Amino acid sequence: MTSLSLERLRVEGEVFMEAISREYYLAHSGRKQSAELQPIYAKHAAILGPDALALTLEAFRSAPAASEEQRGTRLLLDWQAEAQSARELASLDEREIDWEGSAIVRLPDGRGIEYQAAAIEIANSGDRAERETIDTARAALVERELAPMRRERFQRERDITEQLELGPNYNAVFELLSGVSLSDLRAECDQFLSDTRPLWDDVMPEFTKRVLGISAKDATRADALALFRAREFDRFFSPTVMESTIAGQVRDMGIDPTAGGRITLDTGDREGKRSRAFCSAVRVPAEVYLVLRPHGGQTDWNTFLHELGHALHFAYMRPDLPFEYRWFGDNSITEGYAMLFDHLMQDGGWLKRYTELGPGGVHRFLRATGFEELHFLRRYCAKLIYEIELYSGEIMWDSLPDLYVDQLTSATGFRYNRADAFVDVDPRYYSVRYLRAWQLQALISETLVERYDSDWWRNPRAGPWIWSALFSEGQRELAHGQAQRVAGKLLSFGAPLRAVERILG
Ligand SMILES: [Zn+2]
Repeated sequence: MTSLSLERLRVEGEVFMEAISREYYLAHSGRKQSAELQPIYAKHAAILGPDALALTLEAFRSAPAASEEQRGTRLLLDWQAEAQSARELASLDEREIDWEGSAIVRLPDGRGIEYQAAAIEIANSGDRAERETIDTARAALVERELAPMRRERFQRERDITEQLELGPNYNAVFELLSGVSLSDLRAECDQFLSDTRPLWDDVMPEFTKRVLGISAKDATRADALALFRAREFDRFFSPTVMESTIAGQVRDMGIDPTAGGRITLDTGDREGKRSRAFCSAVRVPAEVYLVLRPHGGQTDWNTFLHELGHALHFAYMRPDLPFEYRWFGDNSITEGYAMLFDHLMQDGGWLKRYTELGPGGVHRFLRATGFEELHFLRRYCAKLIYEIELYSGEIMWDSLPDLYVDQLTSATGFRYNRADAFVDVDPRYYSVRYLRAWQLQALISETLVERYDSDWWRNPRAGPWIWSALFSEGQRELAHGQAQRVAGKLLSFGAPLRAVERILG
């Protein structure tokens, strides 16, 4: 057996990452009944155990401050620390994937709905009573079966991470490994929630009344799903031309939408396919899948654009980048590119050119997307504040559902359900990545307008810049560093707020 070295971690690590990614891809796309993760962990145990963690910790601590070596070894250490919990959590994750793939929501009239499809059914229902019936049944099932599994998972993850003794508590370990300050971001979120409260209180009643015919004070999370499903616009977003239209636009700006065949688009319906679209990089940059289960209408366009941003990022990374910059790093970067693409649906010029909305439709649609954008920003700010409490260890687990309902209901105005307190949580602070990505994409978008004008998305010079200045770098930089390099500015809610106010103002 070869002894451990950083070089061996990189080489064997890549084989391991490919195997795990392929397993998740096959299970989540419905091509395989369940994910068999534990045999893969067992096969690569040598590069995922305590010795590998100790090796990367030593390399990180001995690297000079702010050096390239420190940048790379931080990512390897983050991977190793995550591997310690992922290995121990693998059986819980498998159990959860199996449950999600087979659970049925049973309605009072005896009808059964796939758990995976419940959110779609709620969003698609124009009948408020039916939405509440489905959601009540869904929440009861979640509270009984999924929530205890998730709660156990988060408890175990926190314990395992704290036992690594990389910092005094889970949150400190996250900050060390990610290079992101939770307290700074939390302060920005508090400020954003308070700054945008008047605007939110102003627009929310307008939308609940006009779209759903209900008063804002009665609105629930189930109503929010239907509201943001925005079916009134679906006829302008035809499923039959979605792929060809968006692929055409990407070509207009000088990017091959399949990245020379490295990207496979899987957009048909298939039993067992996850309802939530995803992009799976099985080999980076050589083999990337974009998987989408069609629901119809504008939602599909939005998620297709989002996942295409991820897919292009992975498929256009420089193949000679070190393993850690292709596979790990600050996911705010890849989420930022995904959002750069899905935010094209908030660009009036893009909508006029590539959809059938027409001038009047564009105006109404934009206002709806601005409302949705503000909702999501406020929801994610509240989620982050809640998740910091969840991981802090300072609040009893039994008290978390009440805190969850308070935080989310107060920020969004929609009444949330206690059952979701452990389900509506992005593991390992993925909410941080989304929030930073929101800030990053808005800054990149402003930069693109400065460099290539307001219709940068059809400027054949813009794509090559995006590809060479952004995608090819993988995730070598933190979102902060990238913002300073390409925009010369610090990340903040300034740019996303400017975009929302442009639309809603
Ligand atoms: Zn994403």
